[in-house]
Amino acid sequence: MAAIDNLPPLREVIATHGLSAKKALGQNFLLDLNLTAKIARQAGDLSGSDVLEIGPGPGGLTRGLLAEGARRVLSIEKDERCIPALEEIAAAYPGRFSYIQGDALQVDPLAHLTPPIRVAANLPYNIGTELLIRWLTPPQWPPFWQSLTLMFQREVAERITAKPGSNHYGRLAILSQWRADARIVLDLPPQAFTPPPKVSSAVVHLTALPAPRFPADLKVLERVTAAAFGQRRKMLRASLRGLAPDIEDILTSVDIKPTERAEQIDLEHFCALARAIAAQT
Ligand code: SAM
Repeated sequence: MAAIDNLPPLREVIATHGLSAKKALGQNFLLDLNLTAKIARQAGDLSGSDVLEIGPGPGGLTRGLLAEGARRVLSIEKDERCIPALEEIAAAYPGRFSYIQGDALQVDPLAHLTPPIRVAANLPYNIGTELLIRWLTPPQWPPFWQSLTLMFQREVAERITAKPGSNHYGRLAILSQWRADARIVLDLPPQAFTPPPKVSSAVVHLTALPAPRFPADLKVLERVTAAAFGQRRKMLRASLRGLAPDIEDILTSVDIKPTERAEQIDLEHFCALARAIAAQT
């Protein structure tokens, strides 16, 4: 297949800069630039957007995003060993690529980005869910981002996109689907990565809704889903007992049978329940 840019192949980049993968940093690299370009295409039309990338590593996805026409890419990388490789990308794409060396959980990149902003990342597995929850719970909605295109372990991708009745349905599905359209757009086997992780991966694409799908207060909704899914095998009248003294009446008032279990309740009913509880307390 044709090269996507004039930079050296990623295996050569890794060898030149001594980027042996560190487990503690969740380093499972993508070395096939045609695959990273394909992932970049899942993020939509990048030509009019700034892209925030977390964890560029040797720069495979970064190069995919740039080759696919991103207006600008800003990457945050914790591992300083990757900086020389990122410098080479900056030289090849003048004015279109910059990076911050630091911890994505600490750095605030917003001052360096111009809307519209899309986020794309092959996330370090140990901070992926935390970052997603942060992006879904900013102080104001709509958020700074228009879309998130993120690689997760397949099981986490299923938790984000799960529907009621599925084993994976829970708090992450409710939060994600309350504020975004979320779907799995690509599956990747372990062998797509170097070194291969133990489990399969999937890319999830989330598009921010202009307003949450159903009205509810975030804090109350989170309290309700934490209690409901904290004891998912229990009937709701038991698991939600602590939230309001007359919980059975509240459940009935929003058309939820008190004997149902959390995994049977759809997003619309969870939001109605959160509103009814908020009205009582
Ligand atoms: N994007 C590259 C690719 O697709 O080949 C690397 C992906 S690798 C799964 C995760 C990357 O995130 C690594 O480069 C790692 O050093 C970086 N990383 C880990 N923890 C980080 C953190 N807290 N903040 C920023 N980057 C981090």
